[in-house]
Amino acid sequence: MATDLQIAARNVVSSNPATGEELRSFVCTPESEVRSAVARAVSAQPAWSERGIRKRLDILREFQRRLYQKKSEVAQLITREAGKPYVESLLTEVLVVLDAARFLIDNAFRLLRDEPVPHGNLAMKIKSGRLLREPYGVIGIVSPWNYPFSIPATEALSALVAGNAVVVKPSEYTSLSAIELASLLHAAGVPEEIFQVIPGDGATGAALASAAIDKLVFTGSVPTGKQIAQTAASRLLPVVLELGGKDPMLVLDDADVEVASSGAVWGAFVNAGQACLSVERCYVHRNLYQPFLDACVRKTLQLRVGNGLNPETDVGPMIHERQLQNVESQVEDAHSLGASVLAGGTRLPLIGPNFYAPTVLAGVTPSMRVMREETFGPVLPVMAIDNDEEAVRLANDSEYGLAASVWTRDRMRGETIARRLQAGTVMVNDAVSCFGISEAPHGGVKASGIGHSHGRWGLEEMVRIKYLDSDRLPGMDKVWWYNYGRAFTGQMEALLDMQFAARWTKRMNGAMKTLGALKPKRRL
Ligand code: NAD
Repeated sequence: MATDLQIAARNVVSSNPATGEELRSFVCTPESEVRSAVARAVSAQPAWSERGIRKRLDILREFQRRLYQKKSEVAQLITREAGKPYVESLLTEVLVVLDAARFLIDNAFRLLRDEPVPHGNLAMKIKSGRLLREPYGVIGIVSPWNYPFSIPATEALSALVAGNAVVVKPSEYTSLSAIELASLLHAAGVPEEIFQVIPGDGATGAALASAAIDKLVFTGSVPTGKQIAQTAASRLLPVVLELGGKDPMLVLDDADVEVASSGAVWGAFVNAGQACLSVERCYVHRNLYQPFLDACVRKTLQLRVGNGLNPETDVGPMIHERQLQNVESQVEDAHSLGASVLAGGTRLPLIGPNFYAPTVLAGVTPSMRVMREETFGPVLPVMAIDNDEEAVRLANDSEYGLAASVWTRDRMRGETIARRLQAGTVMVNDAVSCFGISEAPHGGVKASGIGHSHGRWGLEEMVRIKYLDSDRLPGMDKVWWYNYGRAFTGQMEALLDMQFAARWTKRMNGAMKTLGALKPKRRL
């Protein structure tokens, strides 16, 4: 663990990845200040919870109104800081958050209210049961740079509506987007201590994971997720882990080549391939392989790469040099092992510092790094397969399980294959866009994570379940209390017969004998 001095000595810098221009530098929040921020949140949270959900939803409506009004300004800021085309900032960041707010405004009251628990066990019918949903207290959120606004915002809105305080440690590359989120929430009426942003690097995130938070929602890479899980295990801190993916795209022999190739090109290159849900490997039936590849190459070569603020741009820069080097090394590895680079495969330094040409690879094999490791860049590796069985086997042969897509003209066939894929989400005839469906749970299986964000399941992550049991006959001793004995044991055997015996006669006999248990027993 880094000391305060080490953390305080470091800065994190937000830069425009398209130009390299420095936008703003932040001192990493020192560990002592991380602890103080959490302490302020702990003190303020009970009053926030007591305000009640209707008042919190009013604040959310105001947040939604303000975000809609500032939509262009916010989207431009995100594009300047994260590089993605302005229209993607509007759709995958601002719209996703406006719609997440809409979902909560429409549903949170109903989803969070007490829920009756009817009892099937005959002996327990005298009790009334209810589920209560109570806020955890303080939720820590550690987020990545690729959706720097919509990821912390969707998680934070659910947490806040449920009555929690939130402390966000944004990515070291995108502090400005998180600070914009804070300023919108505060202007809408969320108290400053109830939503705080602590800029910083990995050590700041580690300090937050070790502070007195009640739950941690982490989105990022698998290696960091594993470190967080270890920290959390030592104090049994509940965590949600939204981690990386290696999403397969399965193109069946009856797919529409024009539609599937357009889907592949968008799914692989949206946000310059830096989407957790992006198409990372493509398996195409051999009968369609060549026309599919030709269409992908033709469409890829038409993409306009450039600064995301230009409305004509399709693909923006990557976030930074290290990410670019990772992509480059996977493409070089595949090439050296026999893959063909049919489009791209090069940096584009004349456009700016972090640009990499959208790349289509053919002749890849399942053991290549580009087919196994998360690439997280604009690369579409395409491999021919002979049948559905092989497609399913290769798709599932991965440590990851975030999402997958199946492409076919026959929806039922697509859905049958979808059921066999090991993934948190499977889309039939589309990819990536499930992130924009506020009702849909988002989360992975295998190394892609634990738990969910978004929708009802994301909201459920923000509450503790308490079971409240209330006895309807408070003046009566319960039959199962002491005093045991031969007669009571016989009656209880009869109770089991009454409910579970195969023959009806035995059930009837059991019912008669059980009645004896209702006579008041001698008290101890
Ligand atoms: P990352 O793991 O490097 O960093 C994520 C966040 O964790 C950052 O804020 C970072 O500062 C912080 N961090 C780093 N070390 C830490 C530590 N030891 N303790 C606590 N916090 C620490 O990931 P990244 O490069 O920012 O994001 C890209 C990754 O995120 C990809 O793998 C991508 O697939 C994944 N991702 C997943 C989802 C999803 O919903 N499943 C969504 C977006 C991104």
